[in-house]
Amino acid sequence: MAHVISEECIKCAACEAECPVNAISEGDNQYVIDPDTCIDCAACTDVCPVGAISEA
Ligand code: SF4
Ligand code: SF4
Repeated sequence: MAHVISEECIKCAACEAECPVNAISEGDNQYVIDPDTCIDCAACTDVCPVGAISEA
């Protein structure tokens, strides 16, 4: 299991700096989480202004 970012992402980049394992990166149309790297710590979820990050 890993956290996922939905298409609601507005590419604000706030979540990227919160991830302790650098699992978040900028994709073509939104930010994305590498499921093999994410440790499900949930540190990224509260900083997203549009609530785009949730548990898979
Ligand atoms: Fe990174 Fe934690 Fe968010 Fe996974 S849940 S992407 S490890 S901040
Ligand atoms: Fe996208 Fe939310 Fe991350 Fe901002 S914090 S880049 S809106 S997922």
